[in-house]
Amino acid sequence: MSDIGGQIADIRRELGDKLLILGHHYQRSSVLGHCDEKGDSLALARLAGLNKTAEKIVFCGVKFMAESADVLSGSNQTVFIPDPMAGCPMAQMADAESMSRAREFLQAGGDHAYGLAGDWLPVVYVNSTAEIKAACGEWGGSTCTSSNSAKVFEWVFGQGKKVFFLPDEHLGWNTGADLGVPDDEIRLYDPRFENGGLDADDLAVARIIVWKGFCLVHQRFVVEHVEHVRHERPEAKIIVHPESPKEVVRICDAHGSTAQIIEYVEAVADGSTIVIGTEVNLVERLAEEHKGRVEILALSPSVCANMAKINENNLLDVLKTFPAESEVHVDVAVAENSRLALERMLAAT
Ligand code: SF4
Repeated sequence: MSDIGGQIADIRRELGDKLLILGHHYQRSSVLGHCDEKGDSLALARLAGLNKTAEKIVFCGVKFMAESADVLSGSNQTVFIPDPMAGCPMAQMADAESMSRAREFLQAGGDHAYGLAGDWLPVVYVNSTAEIKAACGEWGGSTCTSSNSAKVFEWVFGQGKKVFFLPDEHLGWNTGADLGVPDDEIRLYDPRFENGGLDADDLAVARIIVWKGFCLVHQRFVVEHVEHVRHERPEAKIIVHPESPKEVVRICDAHGSTAQIIEYVEAVADGSTIVIGTEVNLVERLAEEHKGRVEILALSPSVCANMAKINENNLLDVLKTFPAESEVHVDVAVAENSRLALERMLAAT
């Protein structure tokens, strides 16, 4: 173990169960080796809510994840992030003011010849700011992750309502397709345009509206990547994350969240070749873990630059002094409504 690793281990031993370190699957292995728990955003959100002993929770991931941990953790617990600049570009693609304008448009049924006020419920991907989650909670909606988006969409449909999904257009399209919603009943809301670029006819036919937003890491995957693998390695199975464009998802063998990709790899027969389209740190770690049993390749190496901001150095720095600038605090009113949206997700799934 490196000197830095040794110092981290010493602090962890000293603090015992007063300290909880959580790490997202997209973290590099050197960081995950110091985490008490690793997981996807759903698993980590649950863990943050369940832990009662840790006074300090250090979140090795991006800001929105640490915010969710703060919202779900107890008042005696403080959440820290090793690099406060580790944000998520997709989370920044939806702001509360634009969402409020969209809500006015969608709920204006009484004033328009289309739609009924209350027809729509928001579903907000956890990869979003606390303000967006709060607006969702206040509106009666739920958050979701890429593991449970289909269940949350069904929760909305089960109430006789339609889904307004943000901020990842691709997860919205792909979840709709998984549930058998045809493309012509899904519309794209682009916040740069008045009414998102939609009109009465769109609202009349749409069952799902998706916000124009995307993940830089997964939007990089294109049809040509898949065609190249099909040509070069016809025996390989290809699985991608549903934040990938629908044109890619539809020609792959499977798609799934981070946790579902891991399960897929664990279930394949020995000697298989699997090509994975997701963040490269996870792909490389799976390749290492299954070495000699399954050949695992990246569809194209795609790195999340923000996840990569966390490293052993800034993890040690935060553990040494727990500085105030590394604390993650969500405003009380925002946290309250945000918790509503998160708890509806945890109850529905
Ligand atoms: S992988 Fe994509 S969605 Fe996840 S933190 Fe990075 S940019 Fe955001």
